Amino acid sequence: MPIAPPTALHNIAVTTLKGVGPALAKKLATIDVHTVQDLLFHLPTRYQDRTQILSIAELVQGQQALIEGEIRGARVAFGRRRSLIVTLDDGSARPMTLRFFHFNAAQKNTLQPGATLRCYAEVRRGAQGFEMVHPEYHVLKDEFDEPEDSLTPIYPTTEGLHQLSLRKLTEQALALLRKGAAVHDLMPTELLQSSALPTLAEALQTLHRPASSEAVDALTNGEHPARARLAFEELLAHRLSMLQLRDKHRELQAKALRSDGSLREKFMRQLPYQLTGAQQRVVGEVITDMDCNHPMLRLVQGDVGSGKTVVAAAAACEAVAAGVQVALMAPTEILAEQHFKGFCEWFEPLGVQVGWLSGRLSAKERRESQQHIASGEARIVIGTHALFQADAQFAELGLVIIDEQHRFGVDQRKALRDKGMHGLMPHQLVMTATPIPRTLAMTSCADLDYSAIDELPPGRKPITTVAIADKRRAEVVERVAAAIKEGRQVYWVCTLIDESETLSAQAASDTANLLAEALSQYSVALVHGRLKPEQKDQVMSHFKSGQVDLLVATTVIEVGVDVPNASLMIIENPERLGLSQLHQLRGRVGRGEAASTCVLLYKAPLGHDARERLAAMRETQDGFILAERDLALRGSGEVFGTRQTGMVGMRVADLVRDREMMPSIISAASKMRATYPEHASALVTRWLGSQAQGYGSV
Ligand code: ADP
Ligand code: MG
Repeated sequence: MPIAPPTALHNIAVTTLKGVGPALAKKLATIDVHTVQDLLFHLPTRYQDRTQILSIAELVQGQQALIEGEIRGARVAFGRRRSLIVTLDDGSARPMTLRFFHFNAAQKNTLQPGATLRCYAEVRRGAQGFEMVHPEYHVLKDEFDEPEDSLTPIYPTTEGLHQLSLRKLTEQALALLRKGAAVHDLMPTELLQSSALPTLAEALQTLHRPASSEAVDALTNGEHPARARLAFEELLAHRLSMLQLRDKHRELQAKALRSDGSLREKFMRQLPYQLTGAQQRVVGEVITDMDCNHPMLRLVQGDVGSGKTVVAAAAACEAVAAGVQVALMAPTEILAEQHFKGFCEWFEPLGVQVGWLSGRLSAKERRESQQHIASGEARIVIGTHALFQADAQFAELGLVIIDEQHRFGVDQRKALRDKGMHGLMPHQLVMTATPIPRTLAMTSCADLDYSAIDELPPGRKPITTVAIADKRRAEVVERVAAAIKEGRQVYWVCTLIDESETLSAQAASDTANLLAEALSQYSVALVHGRLKPEQKDQVMSHFKSGQVDLLVATTVIEVGVDVPNASLMIIENPERLGLSQLHQLRGRVGRGEAASTCVLLYKAPLGHDARERLAAMRETQDGFILAERDLALRGSGEVFGTRQTGMVGMRVADLVRDREMMPSIISAASKMRATYPEHASALVTRWLGSQAQGYGSV
């Protein structure tokens, strides 16, 4: 690797560029731009094509277009809003109407009949043919005024930083690049996926100012080699950043947990079933991890119903036997309570006390509970987020299990460390039923060890999934009646109508009333997020015990609820939900002896994506396949809990589009760490900047 020459752009402050005063420099610093090189890595997110003048006749609605013509008319209209209306004629079709709601006297004077105008905006359909609202325009003085010769970049920006300034600044930076100034190439060529890729400087030039011949499409659909060159670098940087976090976590100290295994054996013996091979393997991995004086950080993925709870309990046994406390956190009250009951049944016979902490305890109960935990009497503590609040003190916390969540935020991570003993970090086990697509996992979870429970307990019957339009609702209600008559229990899920919990609770309760009327000989109950915990608890336990035949619920039952006798689920308006949520919901049935059915009671007509989602639900029950589908449908930006994963936005790479690069990225990352470690950190800073800190799960 050559030493960077003195004209290296990473040594030139952005303030040396024309027009960058202290105020602008400060703005640029907020987007991590300090040097001219940083500016070059501030890449456009999209482009506008102003290289070709289109004729009005060839325009289509919704298109962004550059047109040119002569002004035929200009008048101020006094409708509901005063506006300036200009008609522009290029002789090809009906003239284009330009509308300006904000305009000043100078504009009014320039936009006069006879002037030649070039303008750019989205094409809309109006009453009199096509329209443009507030187009960008300029009056042509000279007939030979050429359109722009490259695509116009649109940059990500921040308040007070305008596209035009970014365009001017990047123009100056590119001019330096063309004159031979160097960008610091951190990629040893032997690590690049293909030698056919352009150089870094060429790639940057192309991404900032694609030539008109290069279709916007090739850049945005990912086929362009210049984009591939940079996407590879960016993905590599993300992977490296995760690996750095993993290293950091591994340097922390933890208490190694070891026992003679007798408690775990007793626990296993009292179970009514044998662990599946997959469960045994994962328990083994967890136990090996915990027997180490660096903290475990392991993600267990297992599809809905794969039996993660018992794996968590086995890990807890081992930790308790090794003399430390265990905290098990669930994301909802319902789920936490269910775990609390289950763990009490499992552990009390073994002489292990189980504690309980939730945000809903009365002050007195809370004090007692905290006392129980702080004294160390409670060996396993189950609860919600309340477990990690400041006033919850453990005597000797050694293992934290987080159920049904991708990962912990930065604050919680810190809180957790504070709860450890004498500066030791507890071991961490994170369990999730929303599988992270492989591609995503390779960058966003590279800091975690990973186990998969890839086998379901024996005897599970597949769930039949059908989609039925809601005009056939009456048939569905009959089907519910028939199922109840056969002694089965039914969920009826009302999806969120609104952000407001109150409104959706209302909608669910209306539905419950209607169903109670239609099914008057059966017992119908309702559960939603607005119920008091005792009420919710009562409803759930009545459903569990079989006193309630039909449970109408909002999506609060989404995670974890376990009632094996329920074998029919109706999901109303499934088109409102994402695939992961649908999959989670459906996982509430198919847990018992009877064959189960899930009815997706949708409202027609379905949009394209909704139809794809429902089709995917009918085709497969495999959460991993559904996760991949979800990724393809929604794009990596919104997929399966990416927000929880703390995934940092990508600039040029796209996890869906670039998934084929992943294997090369994984190998390039390990080679780079081994051979060019200083490049590895520089690359992370280049692409993640100040975000690198907030990334990850440790
Ligand atoms: P999830 O992975 O969705 O959290 P649970 O832990 O709630 O799944 O388990 C789902 C159901 O499967 C429970 O009723 C549990 O008792 C049962 N189960 C778990 N492991 C086994 C097993 N090895 N054999 C039979 N049933 C099992
Ligand atoms: Mg579970």
